[in-house]
Amino acid sequence: MARYIFVTGGVVSSLGKGLSSASLAYLLKSQGYKVRIRKMDPYLNVDPGTMSPFQHGEVFVTNDGAETDLDLGHYERFTNISAKKSDNITTGRIYSDIIKKERKGKYLGKTVQVIPHVTDRIREFIKDDISNEDFVICEIGGTVGDIESLPFVEAIRQFSNEVGRNKSLFIHLTFVPFLKSSDEIKTKPTQHSVKELRSLGIQPDIIICRSQKSIPLDQRKKISLFCNVDIENVIETVDVRTIYEAPISFYNEKLDKQVLKYFKLKPKKKINLLPWKKITKTVLNTKKTINIAIIGKYVNLKDAYKSLDEALIHGGINNNVKVNLIRIESDKLKPSQVSNVLKNVSGVLIPGGFGKRGTEGKISAISYARKNKIPFLGICFGMQMAVIEFARNILKINDAGSSELDKKCYPVVGLLSEWNKNGSLIKGTNKDLGGTMRLGLYEAKLRHNSLIQKIYKSKSILERHRHRYEVNRNLKNKFENKGMIFSGMSPDDKLPEIIEIKNHPWFIGVQYHPEFKSRPLTPHPLFSSFIKAAKFYK
Ligand code: GLN
Repeated sequence: MARYIFVTGGVVSSLGKGLSSASLAYLLKSQGYKVRIRKMDPYLNVDPGTMSPFQHGEVFVTNDGAETDLDLGHYERFTNISAKKSDNITTGRIYSDIIKKERKGKYLGKTVQVIPHVTDRIREFIKDDISNEDFVICEIGGTVGDIESLPFVEAIRQFSNEVGRNKSLFIHLTFVPFLKSSDEIKTKPTQHSVKELRSLGIQPDIIICRSQKSIPLDQRKKISLFCNVDIENVIETVDVRTIYEAPISFYNEKLDKQVLKYFKLKPKKKINLLPWKKITKTVLNTKKTINIAIIGKYVNLKDAYKSLDEALIHGGINNNVKVNLIRIESDKLKPSQVSNVLKNVSGVLIPGGFGKRGTEGKISAISYARKNKIPFLGICFGMQMAVIEFARNILKINDAGSSELDKKCYPVVGLLSEWNKNGSLIKGTNKDLGGTMRLGLYEAKLRHNSLIQKIYKSKSILERHRHRYEVNRNLKNKFENKGMIFSGMSPDDKLPEIIEIKNHPWFIGVQYHPEFKSRPLTPHPLFSSFIKAAKFYK
């Protein structure tokens, strides 16, 4: 039977619960255990799919097409275990399931309540879709003491009671501040947070103390005493120099050792930290820097393009260069400024996006990259914009656009249901806007001898999608005659998946999101190739 590890957070948010859970998962996996990680989010949205990246950072997409919390991205990147739909739940989803059931009379006249109905549904989620896993790590979003997370805390308390303490472990991650004025490390916030957790019926077994400075033994003893946790289980995590050092740091602090000891287990094989040591060294010692411009709507929010930022860094690691991301807000980018803004960049990237705001700035930047032969990567919306730019400036279709943005344009990008044989809009059939996203893994066939085929070294690929609009395949010949080739197509040849420009050293647009599949230890070939091209650009 699986063993369950619950990770809660205290004192403040953004302490790195996701990274801690992901690192622990790597350490256990690397010692021969089968691990699964899941996340419970206390907000009322059914999933983060409709949330603006300003609210909650990037929406991470799984192979099976779930729109999930970005922490699942950390999990995948650190463990290389593909997350599934069944690995993320929100309060909104729970209530929506319960209310649907209630409307169908499935509760047989009972009063539907938080306890037991909501907590039962959470307990179901924790156990769902588990087969031969040795460990299931469940992270609870938010901070202990929040009203919203109360049902989750109660549910894990009940769950632990059900499966037994020998099959469940509670880890609490807290913040241990250092006060400069008194030159002291303060344990009181941790004591209070643990007190709060205990008042909800949970005694943590391990406390991870996030701190800017190493915590002296005396303070550790204090935490151990006041929080009723064995001194060996008071584990510190001091800010690391790069996130790739996190698994090494947790190993040095014996987090995995204490977890295995708790469950009376021994490592099944010798741990391998070499890959992390190697990339930490590369990241810290690389001198050569290249500038990559990311032109998007949400560039000012750190986590809005989390997987993309990571994938670019992975590409840099693979090419021994430091990637300096220059984030440019697309709606502030005037066509007249483009040459000045992009003059020192070695690569231009237009990420995924929705809606009209900022599109003209993106199109001008694409034009500049195309004409000046700067390596260009367009992802999803970025590919759609590249197609529109080419249609306007090379095919001379002046009103070329996307029906997402302008109903009156010449739709080189639109909804599949909108096309007729001539590639023009069929009026009145766009009622399926909404709820029609292409989500998750889809196959693309790659054209023989194309740049993309050389990059992937394969005839067929599987990549994750998250979009509603498509490039109009009826215009394929027109584009190809002028040098933009549709080098990747869906297996039925209906949907353009990849475009590239023949007489350009590196100009690629992809309808999918390759960033979701890039891992620090196995960088994505598309990002590695993009960074390589940028490295040689100047
Ligand atoms: N808005 C575009 C679409 O829905 C692109 C989406 C994206 O970039 N993820 O097709």
